Amino acid sequence: MSFEELGLSSEVLRAVTEQGYDNPTPIQSKAIPIVLDGKDVMASAQTGTGKTAGFTLPLLQRLSQQEPPASAKRGAVRALIMTPTRELAAQIHESVKMYGKHLNLKSAVVFGGVSINPQISQLRRGVDILIATPGRLLDHAGQGTVDLSSLEILVLDEADRMLDMGFIHDVKRVLKLVPGKEERQSLLFSATFSAEIKQLASTILNSPQLVEVAPQNATADRIDQQVYKVDKVRKRELLSKLISDEDWKQVLVFTRTKHGANRLAEQLGKDGHTSAAIHGNKSQGARTKALAGFKAGNVKVLVATDIAARGLDIDQLPNVVNFELPNVAEDYVHRIGRTARAGMSGKAVSLVCIDEDKLLAGIERLIRKSLPRVDVEGFEVDPSIPAEPIRQGGGHRDAGRSRGGAGRANGGGSRQGPGAGRGAGQSRAGGGRPSSAQAAGAKRQGANGRRRRTTGA
Ligand code: AMP
Repeated sequence: MSFEELGLSSEVLRAVTEQGYDNPTPIQSKAIPIVLDGKDVMASAQTGTGKTAGFTLPLLQRLSQQEPPASAKRGAVRALIMTPTRELAAQIHESVKMYGKHLNLKSAVVFGGVSINPQISQLRRGVDILIATPGRLLDHAGQGTVDLSSLEILVLDEADRMLDMGFIHDVKRVLKLVPGKEERQSLLFSATFSAEIKQLASTILNSPQLVEVAPQNATADRIDQQVYKVDKVRKRELLSKLISDEDWKQVLVFTRTKHGANRLAEQLGKDGHTSAAIHGNKSQGARTKALAGFKAGNVKVLVATDIAARGLDIDQLPNVVNFELPNVAEDYVHRIGRTARAGMSGKAVSLVCIDEDKLLAGIERLIRKSLPRVDVEGFEVDPSIPAEPIRQGGGHRDAGRSRGGAGRANGGGSRQGPGAGRGAGQSRAGGGRPSSAQAAGAKRQGANGRRRRTTGA
């Protein structure tokens, strides 16, 4: 099937051709005609499948072809795309600009961790398509700087991660600000469909069409996956050697904690590999700079925590390293999915110490294959080292400190708790009085006994 056959307009097709896309990906072939038809969609698709264009292309076309409702005020938002993280929001905005370059539609992105004032000015000038993280969006709503009352299309991207990060209440608050589900078109994208997601979908979507593409594990087929069994204390040394010996030019490395990410980036820097860390405790400016440096090839190694890396879209990323295995097996699939995107091949290396044997077994069960082990001379495992419990930092998967933690990883469904995502994925701008939504968020956090962590700002 070609893009032309999907019913896209010449302006949209032109932008697609300029991107160099030859054919639609499976999610695009399935979703685009349904969205163009005005129907609601519930789609299971991960980052890397081309889902962004899957909803953005038809959304742009519909907005360009239909008039806003007669009751709509000037400058009111016509389409809202909500995402869990700042990085994903920024990337989607880039896609919207790219795919919509031949159309006369205005777009903007709002997220926390940066000054709210330029966002307010931009919203005042009128925005057709708004990409937003929920917290900052509610801040704008609280200040009356955004009008969602005549919204035509609502997109909830990475809905599963949104829930994992504790944004459910924020999402529900946003739903109160937009027209009812019969009066708008709604699209929900999620990598997984838990009972909670289905419940959310039933409140958001109106008789949705289901769109499913090959299960996420199938995407791993093009990825050359390897496991290096190595003692924990020698992981950094081995990684440094692999980067040098295999002449890796661009590698995304995952650590379990923010502190670990910082330390590793620093050590690799000392080993002569230009490195930067990206995680929720970094200011938005530092994160943007690190990502830009990595994309431009000035930074060879980007060390990231799961939350920070979620949604990163780096074209043709050749290498992904699990410096530490994730506690949740599904995250392994998300992590290695950063490579081998859109038909490319890639390599995913996991450095596994004895403490992580159970996590590795869980991952192999999930992906239904046993991963090849690679031995490196001089890095043989010392059999006298006993396995130790994997420490977590203060209940946060993405936590800054690993001391005084919660003990053994549960390897199962231990996701971040409510509210934790704001520390990792976004934050509210500092200063000023908290909006009611903020106050509610703080209360929620209090009820969970967690200290509020804000970043950036
Ligand atoms: P996404 O899943 O939306 O994050 O997209 C993953 C990557 O695939 C992005 O780098 C897109 O630019 C790229 N992409 C999207 N659609 C296509 C297509 N039809 N052909 C080739 N690459 C694509």
